Amino acid sequence: MSFKPADFIQDIQNFGEFGGVNPSISDSATYTFLAAKTMQDTFEGHTEGCYLYSRHASPSTLYLGDALAKMEGTESALVAGSGMGAITSVILQLCKANDHIVSSRTIYGGTYAFMKNFLPRLDINTSFVDITSLEKVEAAINSKTKMIYCETISNPLLEVANLPALSKLAEKYNIPLVVDNTFSPLMVSSSHLGATITIHSLTKFINGTNDTIGGVVCGKKEFIDSLRNVNDGAAMLLGPVMDSLRAAQILKNMRSLALRMRKHSDNALYLAEQFQKDGLSVVYPGLENHKGHELLKSMLNESYGFGGLLTLELESLEKANELMELMQNRNIGYLAVSLGFYKTLFSASGASTSSEIPEEEQKEMGLSKGLIRFSIGLDDDIVRTYKSMKACMQEAGIL
Ligand SMILES: *Cc1c(COP(=O)(O)O)cnc(C)c1O
Repeated sequence: MSFKPADFIQDIQNFGEFGGVNPSISDSATYTFLAAKTMQDTFEGHTEGCYLYSRHASPSTLYLGDALAKMEGTESALVAGSGMGAITSVILQLCKANDHIVSSRTIYGGTYAFMKNFLPRLDINTSFVDITSLEKVEAAINSKTKMIYCETISNPLLEVANLPALSKLAEKYNIPLVVDNTFSPLMVSSSHLGATITIHSLTKFINGTNDTIGGVVCGKKEFIDSLRNVNDGAAMLLGPVMDSLRAAQILKNMRSLALRMRKHSDNALYLAEQFQKDGLSVVYPGLENHKGHELLKSMLNESYGFGGLLTLELESLEKANELMELMQNRNIGYLAVSLGFYKTLFSASGASTSSEIPEEEQKEMGLSKGLIRFSIGLDDDIVRTYKSMKACMQEAGIL
């Protein structure tokens, strides 16, 4: 595939207000107008490049949004204070009472809880389907359906969504395909593969330092502008804004994203291959035995690998907990949720980030209690890490 998203990040050229190599950070909540008429025009949405109030946009959030739009290859982007802020704004902008959503059943726990428990209060209902079955997705679409929603690589089962095929389906029914691409920045350019709207939690790989929460919506200019419309824009009116200082920081961290993604992927592939040789029950989309391996390969941009996430299935939650505590004590990583950090993070998904999903449904989708999700770190010497992990597994009686 010829799309090279890292080039677009490399090619960003910003001259700061004082000629700085980084754009100046805007430290203001409100902005002055030299003429009263311009203020009125801005409220009516007529003046490009005029700042009004930082819930609407600030120079710093626009710089970051611009970089993310370039990375995704979309016309525009809107930065939000969290991934959930981005997701909920998109859904509430597209759906009203009596509408319907077709969503993958293996999605981030918070998104699942929003669709399952919160949206019905507004009379918006969701059918959760096996996203790898196009027949099931199509069968769930009805005349009230306002979107197909999925994650490129799903959390935590690492199922791969067939974005080109889903996009054709969405087109057939004239509805948008909304894709959460948090697990695969740079690796997969979802908008190039047919996503109408691409969402990221910036909290994860894109920022990569686990010191802030953030989100983004990438899409057509018309839709992004509608999100921040002063009269009926979900982002403008619900207010999930990101602070300018944080936006400036995330923009700087994005510059090393390509290097980091490659290292996360290389390390994860190495560990997955070793675990497989050891006879462990490992799931990693870079392994040939993974159900979505060929599909993901066909969607990947070159050279970023298959991502930093892998899962191990142990016989029980107790065994998983024992191993995770041991690995933390040996300083292999942290027993923590989230992903995309320089250190490896691990958690038992069923009892943590997917605990919003009822036990029965967890079972049905193949999420076992002993499943550990690993976000593999940037360890310079992954062989050393593997040896320490193996020692822990031997001590816990897993190997
Ligand atoms: C973390 C995450 C979210 C939510 O993002 P926040 O920044 O925590 O609000 C959404 N989707 C996926 C896939 C995630 O991993």
